[in-house]
Formats: sequence, C-alpha cells, structure tokens
Amino acid sequence: MSKDKAFVTEITPQGEDFSRWYIDVIKKAELMDYSPVRGCIVFRPDGYELWENIQRQLDQRFKDTGHRNAYFPLFIPESFFQKEKEHVEGFNPELPFVTEAGGEPLEEKLAIRPTSETMFGHMYAKWINSYRDLPLLINQWANVVRWEKRTLPFLRTSEFLWQEGHTAHEDEADARRETMQMLDVYTEFAENVLAIPVIRGQKTPSEKFAGAVDTYSIEAMMKDGRAVQAGTSHYLGTNFAVAFDIKYLSRENTQEYCHTTSWGVSTRLIGALIMVHGDDRGLVMPPKVAPTQVIMIPIGPPKTREQVIAKTDELFAQLKAAGVRVRVDDRSDVSPGWKFNEYEMRGIPVRLELGPRDLENGVCVLVSRVTGEKKQVPLDNLVEEVQAMLDEVHRQMYERALQFREEHFFSVETLDELKTSLEEKRGFALAGWCGSDACEKQVKDETGATSRNIPFEPAETKTKCLVCGDDSKHTVVFARAY
Ligand code: AMP
Repeated sequence: MSKDKAFVTEITPQGEDFSRWYIDVIKKAELMDYSPVRGCIVFRPDGYELWENIQRQLDQRFKDTGHRNAYFPLFIPESFFQKEKEHVEGFNPELPFVTEAGGEPLEEKLAIRPTSETMFGHMYAKWINSYRDLPLLINQWANVVRWEKRTLPFLRTSEFLWQEGHTAHEDEADARRETMQMLDVYTEFAENVLAIPVIRGQKTPSEKFAGAVDTYSIEAMMKDGRAVQAGTSHYLGTNFAVAFDIKYLSRENTQEYCHTTSWGVSTRLIGALIMVHGDDRGLVMPPKVAPTQVIMIPIGPPKTREQVIAKTDELFAQLKAAGVRVRVDDRSDVSPGWKFNEYEMRGIPVRLELGPRDLENGVCVLVSRVTGEKKQVPLDNLVEEVQAMLDEVHRQMYERALQFREEHFFSVETLDELKTSLEEKRGFALAGWCGSDACEKQVKDETGATSRNIPFEPAETKTKCLVCGDDSKHTVVFARAY
C-alpha cells in the first residue's frame, strides 16, 4: 500500500502546478525524453505509437478526400525563401541553415525546412501545365524544424513531426472549398478520434500564416484554461503561385496563376490530448489512439494462478483477433494494486480484471479509466462488452472536455473584464474587436492573451471593441496560449 501511495504522489497535482504536472506525467509514462539538443525531444515507443495511431487515421481521411502522399527533401535553397516576402519575414527568425558540408562551405546556404510551400511551389511550377493537371492534391508526412525561443515537449519543439498538405487549384472558389474541407477533416478528427472539442474560426491578420491570404484554425482548451492551436488550414491565394510561377493553361486558352492551399497538424496534438484529458492520477488516453486500449490483469492466489492465466491468454487472443489493442500484465512479483496505479497513470482506457471466482462464474470485471466505474461482464460476450466500454469512455471524455470548456468560457465587454476573467477564472473569453492591430496588441501586452480566432459559430455577437469601445468588426476568442 505504501508503495501505491508513493507512486501517485510523484505526480505534481494539476491544481498545484499544471506545467509540472504535465512534465511529470509525460516523463513518468515514458512518452518522451529530452535530447541533448535544445528544444528537441525523443519520442519513446508509447509516445511514438500515439503519433502512429493519429497518423494512420488522419491519413485515411486525407486519402478519402482525394489526396496522395509524396516526400519532398529536407533541405531548401535559401533563395527559395526570398521569393515570397511575407513568408521570408515570418520564417526568417526561426530558420536553421546548413552552411558547410564535408568540411567545405556550401555555395548556397540550405535551410532545413520549417514548412514546404516553397519546395512544393518550385515543383508544382514544373508539373502543372494545364487545367487538366488540376486540382493537384498532395500531402507529405515529415519532420520540420523551427528554431523556437520557448519550447515545451510535444506542444512546441524545435524539430517536430507533422503532415503538410499542399494543393493547387484553378480558381479561388475551388481552393477555398479545399481550405474549408481540410478544416472540417481536422475538426471531425479532433472530436471523434481525440475526444477534443474545438472552436473553428479564422485567424486575425496578425496571427495568420506568413504568406497566406487567410488562415483558419481549430482551437482547444487545456485543463488550465489555456489554448492550443490544434491545426491550421490556409488559403494562400496566388501568393506562392506568383512567387514560383505556378501557371496553367485555362479552359479559355489563357495562362493563369493557380490558387493554392496548405494545411497541417503536428505532434502538438499529443500534448493537447494529454492536457485536455489528463488528471491527478496521470494520463487519460482517448481509446481511438491509445497505444494500449485494454490492460488485462489476472488476480488471485498462487494455487489458482495457472487456471486464471490460461483463461486470460484465451481472452487475450479473442480481443486481439477482434482488433483491440490489448496487453496482459501477469507478473507475479508486483501486486495487483501496484499494477492498477501503474496503468491508471499510463492512461489505459479499460482495465480487465480476472480472478478465480470470476472464472467460476464465467465473468470478468471491466474498469473505466475515466470514471472508475466497474462493470461485471459475461466472458462469452467479452469482445462486444469491451468495444462498448471503449466507445463509452470516448463519449465520456468528450463530454467532460466540452463541459469543462463551457464552464471556462466567458463573455467580456472590456479589457478589465478580460483581465479579471483570465486571472480569477482561467479560460477563454469572447469579446468584440474593432479590427485594429493596436487594440489587438494592447490586449496581448496587458493580459498576455492573444486572439485565438474569429469563431464561425460564436455563442453571441459582441458589438463594441473591448479596448477602444468603438463598434466591433469581429467577435473574437481571446486566451493565453501555449
Ligand atoms: P503552421 O504551418 O504554422 O500553420 O503550423 C501548422 C501546425 O503545426 C500548427 O497548427 C501547429 O499545430 C503545429 N506547430 C507549429 N509550430 C509547432 C512547433 N514548434 N511544435 C509543434 N507543433 C507546431
């Protein structure tokens, strides 16, 4: 028992210090470790498997919407970045370069890609000739590097893993349709797979992607009330087409510039799902991406052990054959209580306990990580019962996250009200904004909150700017963000 207690108290409670809780949990659950290089992390197997599960399910959605994968090089000639003015200004402070190789200085410095609009632009100009080549819909899974000043494992790292979609279209309408479609894909994925409710909306000009005409995002609320931008989709207009000369022969036999888009989500999603769902006992993994969905723990005295383990193995095979990600912990040198804590800390959605009396009665016990609810279920219907509980855990996680967000979502009229709600209540605030950069900057300077997005479906429309009091142009979500 003392071992159990010592185990749990190693994680700093969320209410005491949320950032420490986060670091404690991800290290203790062995999702990551720090690398010797600033801002870079190692994805340990459970952390990487989370990413693989995210990747697989997103990839299917990209393919279902007509995209194909390709791979573009890591190195991008420096001159490519000079071609689009806003892009270079936005990315220059974060660009690392290779200047020398094999002991020789390079003729042209090579940027390590922070994003690949320029490289795709260069290739698309070669590949696209006529309207028959359009739309061109390519995605790549890759690593990118941005030399970030502040870093935090998963949420903001110097090197991260992501996907970047890059598409080219005949006209604005088709490119805008694509931009929205991918924002919808991200929304559906966040909610139905990660159990994270998100706010969809448009970024203000100061927060948009460098080189984009319009940027749209999905924003999620963490358990400390801060925001995470969980994904972005950009309408790039003809900015990159003009910079890289991506032209096509139109149906009317004229040369036209393509309209392009790009969209991405990254390993930041791992940080988000941990901060949305975790609790003082540790991680709580969304069942659809959990590396292990069910942990089976045989229990009981040594004399019945063999029998119980034989049945456990049989049930394990059944669950595995049904596609459930299941593991067994049949170690006899650690107590069941220790194991319960261990797998709760690791956030495994469902625990399955099987003891000798259960065996006699043809049942076992399923325990939900999210509610702690125990349910006795018949063994001859185990696969269905497990799948039903995994679905239930997902639903409860989504409902809880949504409820938390609603309880921490405020509506404010003035900058002072915003300060109070950020300090005392922690969360997001809906406010009016006149559209001026100066007012937006004042919010940031005085409160540390940034405009997250202009939501598509605000709960209400605000009529006055929270800073200057003039008529508002937009209703904006403000929050402190990771
Ligand atoms: P962007 O190309 O800037 O629109 O970024 C695309 C997505 O990548 C964002 O929505 C973030 O979720 C994610 N992202 C941006 N910077 C980082 C970073 N330093 N570490 C992890 N994820 C990032």
